[in-house]
Amino acid sequence: MADAADDANELAQQHIDQLLNNRQRGPRLRPCGECHNPLCGNELDDDRALFCGAECSMEWEKRNG
Ligand SMILES: [Zn+2]
Repeated sequence: MADAADDANELAQQHIDQLLNNRQRGPRLRPCGECHNPLCGNELDDDRALFCGAECSMEWEKRNG
């Protein structure tokens, strides 16, 4: 018994799934202890981190996305 709200939720979920799939198709990064932004290169305390901050993440996506 699906109503309109359920349909909307399902569409939204499909949209999110698509976004995630597109992301996973891009180049894969592995944590290396350094920020992956070539303009930055900071050492990272968290050895699972890819970037030291959102700005570096966005810079990388601009170059590689
Ligand atoms: Zn950085």
